[in-house]
Amino acid sequence: MTLCCLICESKAVLSQEAANAAVLLIGTIDSFLFGVRQVHTQGLEVTPETRPESLLVQLLDLIGESVSSATSGYTAMTAFAKDVQKYQFGHYDYLCLRCGARFDRNADI
Ligand SMILES: [Zn+2]
Repeated sequence: MTLCCLICESKAVLSQEAANAAVLLIGTIDSFLFGVRQVHTQGLEVTPETRPESLLVQLLDLIGESVSSATSGYTAMTAFAKDVQKYQFGHYDYLCLRCGARFDRNADI
């Protein structure tokens, strides 16, 4: 079911659940990329003598560090998601991204 805004009839309506998922997804990706950058700035030295096996180990280390960073950032993103719920949605279920109207699930009945 496509929901439309009650004010401007835009279809760009975001539910609380979708906003929460988007915040957590963006935060997780951001933390993952932060972990990648941290590992990169620590300096992975690749020499001509580096064997393919060691490159694979370096890649797995990079992924491991990045996943660790992503999971540690999840707590901070959960708090941020709660702020989004509180300040953007209040007690309403939906937010129109075009006009900013907020409304409840059963408002059109
Ligand atoms: Zn609207």
